Amino acid sequence: MTKILFSTPCQPYPIQFNNVSLTDISFQRFTQQQDIFTLSGHVHCQGVHTIAQNISVPSIFLEYPTWDYFEKEVKKGYDFVGISFFQTCMDITLDMCKMIRKLSPQSKIVLGHYGALALNAYYPEDFKKEHADYICKGEGVSFFRKLLGEPVDAPITQNLLPRCGDNLPWIDHHPKGNMGWVTAGLGCPSACDFCATTEMHDNNRIQISPPDKIFEDIKKVYRTYPDTIMVSIYDEDWLKYTNEVREVGRLIQEDTEFGLRKINWVSPSSVESLSQYDFDELPLNGFKATFIGVESKFAPKEGYQKRTGDAKDTIHSLLKRGISCSGGLMLGFDFHDRVNILEDINYYVACEMTTHQISRVFPFPGTPLWDRLQEEGRVYDVPWVDINFYGGGYKHKNFEPHEIEHLILEGYRKFYHTWGPTVMRQLKVELNGYDWCRASNNPLLRDQRAGLHKEGAEMLYPMIRACEHFAPNGLVRRRIRQTEERYIKNFGKPTPSQEIMSYYVLTKAFQAKLQEHIDPQNRHPKQEPFKMYIYEKNGKGENGSPYKVVYPVRDKKYEFYRNFRGFKEDTFKKLLGYVDNIWAPKGTTPGPIQEFRMRLI
Ligand code: SF4
Repeated sequence: MTKILFSTPCQPYPIQFNNVSLTDISFQRFTQQQDIFTLSGHVHCQGVHTIAQNISVPSIFLEYPTWDYFEKEVKKGYDFVGISFFQTCMDITLDMCKMIRKLSPQSKIVLGHYGALALNAYYPEDFKKEHADYICKGEGVSFFRKLLGEPVDAPITQNLLPRCGDNLPWIDHHPKGNMGWVTAGLGCPSACDFCATTEMHDNNRIQISPPDKIFEDIKKVYRTYPDTIMVSIYDEDWLKYTNEVREVGRLIQEDTEFGLRKINWVSPSSVESLSQYDFDELPLNGFKATFIGVESKFAPKEGYQKRTGDAKDTIHSLLKRGISCSGGLMLGFDFHDRVNILEDINYYVACEMTTHQISRVFPFPGTPLWDRLQEEGRVYDVPWVDINFYGGGYKHKNFEPHEIEHLILEGYRKFYHTWGPTVMRQLKVELNGYDWCRASNNPLLRDQRAGLHKEGAEMLYPMIRACEHFAPNGLVRRRIRQTEERYIKNFGKPTPSQEIMSYYVLTKAFQAKLQEHIDPQNRHPKQEPFKMYIYEKNGKGENGSPYKVVYPVRDKKYEFYRNFRGFKEDTFKKLLGYVDNIWAPKGTTPGPIQEFRMRLI
């Protein structure tokens, strides 16, 4: 029987711009520069999990392995070794290829993901052959099925892909996954010249899962893991496909098991795709959060099709309806000069997104932008570790690289000093959603979706005291107090359990603040625990997980943390429940203690 080993690059990974971790995208990108309120979390390599679930042979997937363990596994002599990697880890991956060639010369090496796209474009043919037998550019399931002689067009299943999660690291140092994952499609037809994703799929979108399957998979996640707060429907711009979105929305509305009270999803969108909808219909489809590539206020004028329309108006309309928005701003386009780049940052801050990403334009090998800049002689030969969201590798028309770096940090800081921590922005969005749903004539919104927003607001309430205390300035402090007044107006005074939790969070915040002064968090970029997923093809049935997870390298501190966390949460839950039952004023509902963790996007 054919044996397959999948792996990510071996750790440790190169540290990113501003001394942050490559794999912690909340800390690295979406909530940067928020002092102690910067979130931290983990993600999984869903592409490889999807491949492993959709080939007929068993496989092992090493997620964030150590070198020693990778070597041990390679020596077993697999038929295929597949490595999925980012270009940032190019040097690590090439060393892994050399190791495979030496220790298991009969193994065929398959390279995939963004790193493979870069490798394919950058290196000459003989170098590529020396290191790999196959380069998978594009969708991986059909690539592997073809390689193994299996039916390429068979349907793709996504059975309980591992969940991702984030939290404040001083509340939960190793947040457990609470966000499910279903891929709707890959690739994007918008063909932005800087975009590796569109290039990877030849400017096309490939549908991976039809609406009825997406809905089934979402339900399976909620049914198997009742603590799921949201499901990510991954597609570069899923909102483009109105029929798919509306069909999933219809199924959610008709569902009597979870319905709109429970099911909500996040998916990337664009100003252009959103313009196809009456915004009032979006919450009815279960849409709760999105990422919009704003890129630049000037993007529509500069020919980026997806940005036709006003990003700020679109984002404000979504926030008003309780839909959280994240977004991306890119600095360093050729049209940027020292005046309009500040206008761009200010426009972006005015969007008031819940989370945000500010990156630097860079030519990804293989994209049209890279080709053009090469022709113009403007591509620098920089180390692979610096080819990333914040890196560079090319000569900007009007800036020195360090100017862009400082503008990025300044943009992040401006966001925080204007709108405060993401957790408070999220609370405001929940209150917006609650008000908007309660005012609606539609009973599904009034009775179901409003309940979801209420639960989200209650979960975040205990954060107010710490956020107000450590607010970066009076402007933000006042906004937080106004948000608290709005909360009390809607839901009444906090329950005793919420008050206790808020003092607990405040105490932890004092500790975190002190720690930040003595030993700042970005001195310790996070490395992920190494996990081995065993896909044996003997799943425990329809709702059973299709893999077993093993931690090959024992970390006693981490094990203790994971085991103790459950005990701590349960104990807290019980204690706070008693407190509410005894002290909550008559007529109030008991505290929202489903879980002693915050509900965050
Ligand atoms: S819209 Fe986004 S995913 Fe699509 S091509 Fe442009 S940058 Fe890439």
